[in-house]
Amino acid sequence: MHSSKIFAGIDIGGTFTKLGIVSRNKVIARKIVKSPTTLIEFFELFNKIKNDYEFTTLGLGIPGIIDHKNMIMKYASPSLGFLNGITIKDKIEGITGTEVYITNDANIVTIGEMIYGAGKGINSAICLTLGTGIGGGLFYKDKLLIGDNGFAAEFGHINVVENGSTCSCGKRKGCVENYFSISGISNLVKEIKGKEYPMEEILKMARNGDNDILQALSNVSFLLGKAIGAILLVIDINTIILAGGLSRFFPYIKNDIIRGIKNYCYTADYANIVIKQSELLENAGILGAAYLAKTKGEILY
Ligand SMILES: [Zn+2]
Repeated sequence: MHSSKIFAGIDIGGTFTKLGIVSRNKVIARKIVKSPTTLIEFFELFNKIKNDYEFTTLGLGIPGIIDHKNMIMKYASPSLGFLNGITIKDKIEGITGTEVYITNDANIVTIGEMIYGAGKGINSAICLTLGTGIGGGLFYKDKLLIGDNGFAAEFGHINVVENGSTCSCGKRKGCVENYFSISGISNLVKEIKGKEYPMEEILKMARNGDNDILQALSNVSFLLGKAIGAILLVIDINTIILAGGLSRFFPYIKNDIIRGIKNYCYTADYANIVIKQSELLENAGILGAAYLAKTKGEILY
């Protein structure tokens, strides 16, 4: 096997980091470790990967807003705040001795799904990663659109409730990720049931047909649909891919998402719109990061 065809794909999350080695479009080694909590731990991670595996190019996804031009982390997700203002690419290349390509975590998931998963064979789609927050990826005509500065597709911060709850992005109120996210759904369920439940339990209750839970999911899915409707008014795309942990709620949210889109996007052509669930789940980020490396970042536009 030629080592020139071996890529490392790394998906850094708020809590866990998934590392994978990809050859011939398959994950041939995979490891999940605790995410770094300091800058020293962050760089040590790459030292360890370099010692443990052989690869020629490395792709990396980090949650937050990345200045793609200068490869500086602008606003990392809170648990990775130590990366803010750090020029990451050159340092990692120095450690690994390989080329490194970086984008945000939702973008690598989108690339993974488009090349190998739910979007395989389709050249355009929007992807939403539903979890702690909402990440977004906009794949248009075989490229992942990052925009002028690399900040495109921050779908989680589309406003869906006037004067709604305050968002983690600052003083803004009513961003969709306040409603359709792990904390948004837990808070809503707590209001209804009087106590907090983990997502696993909430999913079970939905499966068992608990009306309160189904109603709560219907409400937040409608808001998610409203946000997707706003995206579709800007860009006419038929395929919507839902990824991330909360995509497991797919059967209980799909219809209300469509209802939200219908209410807010008058141009949407429902005969063509397809909402799909992630097919790669845990491997989406690894495969997408490896593909980012494989294209030497050229998949980004
Ligand atoms: Zn926000």
